[in-house]
Amino acid sequence: MTVETKVWDGGWIQVKIPLPFSLKWVNSYLIPENGGSYTLIDPGLHTDEALEAWDEAFLNHGVTIEQITRIVLTHQHPDHYGLAGYFQDRTGAPVFISERSHQYTQRLWGSSSTYAEELRAHFAIHGMPDELTLEIKSNLDGFVRKVSPQPRVTYLTAGDTIQLGGLDWRMIDAPGHAFGQLCFYEPFNGYMLCGDQVLPHITPNIAFNPGEEEDPLGCFLNSLDELYEYKVKLAFPGHREPFTDFANRIIEIKQHHDRRLNKMWEMLREPSSAFELCEHLFGGHLRTNPHNLRFAMSETIAHLHYLEKRGKIIRTGTMDTVMFRTAE
Ligand SMILES: [Zn+2]
Repeated sequence: MTVETKVWDGGWIQVKIPLPFSLKWVNSYLIPENGGSYTLIDPGLHTDEALEAWDEAFLNHGVTIEQITRIVLTHQHPDHYGLAGYFQDRTGAPVFISERSHQYTQRLWGSSSTYAEELRAHFAIHGMPDELTLEIKSNLDGFVRKVSPQPRVTYLTAGDTIQLGGLDWRMIDAPGHAFGQLCFYEPFNGYMLCGDQVLPHITPNIAFNPGEEEDPLGCFLNSLDELYEYKVKLAFPGHREPFTDFANRIIEIKQHHDRRLNKMWEMLREPSSAFELCEHLFGGHLRTNPHNLRFAMSETIAHLHYLEKRGKIIRTGTMDTVMFRTAE
């Protein structure tokens, strides 16, 4: 394996840690600190391939694992959080994350978690066939070992400032893709470490999850409006490459959701379940990919909630299967 890395201003090392799904990699960043130590941002999912990539990256850049003295997580998703506990076990480094993100890790992967079963039942009432809901549940159960061991954490708070690489970064609450996610803004250079909130080329997944915020898409669009106000010269995202057109990318992502909402509203002139809509929008081929099907279904339901909350569509159907249609 050859791991791809790139050194940015300030000696930041971008490390592309491989992922076993279509996203291909997550960006981890090693930030040099005083005295030869490093802060590690978002270490990746706990897989053998990711650990191999780390070994190679450390070797190529003359860094040893002992030099990691702090681990900072933008958000709780397993492709960012998964290796935090592994690195903490080997270095003793504190792991920093927001309280809300941490609560979510316990809800998903805590010892008494019922989340996978709740999601299965939720997809079933939205019209997904049982065999697919079961595949999604077992896919989700498979993530537990990819986030283990889980770290002891210290909380970060939006609105506070954190020092990274000798610079002061303001932490910004950035909900919608992941509730509890933090973006980090450095005003002097115009740097934004943006997690998965704004991504180049691909749109961040916006998911409604049972027991979570009812209107994740509304929260996400509000957060984009807030982030648009920051003067950003270089954004460091969780996936794909660092990019310079942050404000423009925000506009494009908002336009994408506008188009999707309009299309769904048109489609709902014929009553439809979320699952039927999901297949129309994303394609029936997702039936063979439970991971991507879960994202597509959660994203479809997030858009339906958005339309429903604004009176554009209404719920019909039975107790067993929820259907939606355009409001008169
Ligand atoms: Zn994410």
